[in-house]
Amino acid sequence: MNRTEFQEIPHSGCTLTVNIATFDDGRRGIQYGVKHSAPTPFSVYAIYASAEGVPQEICPMGGMGVPLPKRPTRNSRLIFIGCDRESFFGHQCPKCDGYWRSTSATTPWPMVCPYCGYSGKSLEFMSEAQLDYIKACCEHIAKLQEGPDGEYEISLDKVTDEINSSRTPNLFYTQQSQQSQYCCCECGNRDDILGKNGYCSSCGTRNDLGVFKSDLEKLGKKLEAGSSPTEVLKDAVSSFDGFVNAYRNQLASRVNFTHPKRKRFVKMKFHDIEETIQLFSEIYDINLSKGIEGKLEFLNKLFQRRHIHEHCAGHIDKKYVEKTGDNAVKIGQFVTENKQDVEDFLKELLVVGENLHREFHEIIHTQQAEPIIAEKEKKERIAKYNKQP
Ligand SMILES: [Zn+2]
Ligand SMILES: [Zn+2]
Repeated sequence: MNRTEFQEIPHSGCTLTVNIATFDDGRRGIQYGVKHSAPTPFSVYAIYASAEGVPQEICPMGGMGVPLPKRPTRNSRLIFIGCDRESFFGHQCPKCDGYWRSTSATTPWPMVCPYCGYSGKSLEFMSEAQLDYIKACCEHIAKLQEGPDGEYEISLDKVTDEINSSRTPNLFYTQQSQQSQYCCCECGNRDDILGKNGYCSSCGTRNDLGVFKSDLEKLGKKLEAGSSPTEVLKDAVSSFDGFVNAYRNQLASRVNFTHPKRKRFVKMKFHDIEETIQLFSEIYDINLSKGIEGKLEFLNKLFQRRHIHEHCAGHIDKKYVEKTGDNAVKIGQFVTENKQDVEDFLKELLVVGENLHREFHEIIHTQQAEPIIAEKEKKERIAKYNKQP
């Protein structure tokens, strides 16, 4: 999709209805409702906030006719928060301050920050601008309460505009699109994050494997279309380096360890498969070569070949022969790669990636079963429905 990074996503056209009535005993009651008129898909969630505009709890909406749960305090206001025009909701991490958008407004399970992996209740992830918006809504309601009984409408877009005019652009309640939109392959949640790599904010699964897989598929297609195998090999190693780098950074920042090779590990580039496998195994007991033990020699050769192409203009050097034991070439000989080898290389590299992803989540327990099971059940229901005559 052709998207403009960091563009503002305009608010989605939504009106809050406030019905104020006075009971026989003199008490005043408020009923809330929400209307939507813009021609874009719309979803909304509700929270209870104190009269001063401090969020108290998420208010689950059970649908037409289902009574709302009891207000946490007598003066609690019901505030509706709508999605933007791309059906996303904004979130901000209380730990690392990172901002992202996702299709999950709130989750019954803890929400996970895509950047640092912190997990907590959905309410903890409200942005400053959303908090301003809630406060402004509460102020409007307080003013209406001072007036006569009746049914009133508050344009939530207008409230948003009032906040935005007094705010710097990065604090807009109006959401900002980020750099990478992806759909989680485990739970189906869509996230829009800064950069390429992160945790799914709903189920906590890293998205890197999906990104890496798609990179490798694109390289496979390039190879098929006649691109130079040598160039594809170079690109594949560079993609592998970026992929492993994301997991290394998370491990290094989240798992305290005092291994003598830590210094080397936190700085290393992943251009040498033997050293990569060895360090992950020594430091974290992660086995990257599971299932491809017989292919390690081949993988090592192609990694070393990449080094030759990148740094020696394709001419074999002494180090290459020492590292690979490859007797089929002579020092000083110019080499190129063949399509079949690079095709095999892409396949084996994916297995290394899958091993890393799986074992990483055995150490970093951000993955949550509920959304993954819910998605699986949804897919099964759809498949069953589609099979019906
Ligand atoms: Zn964070
Ligand atoms: Zn997910």
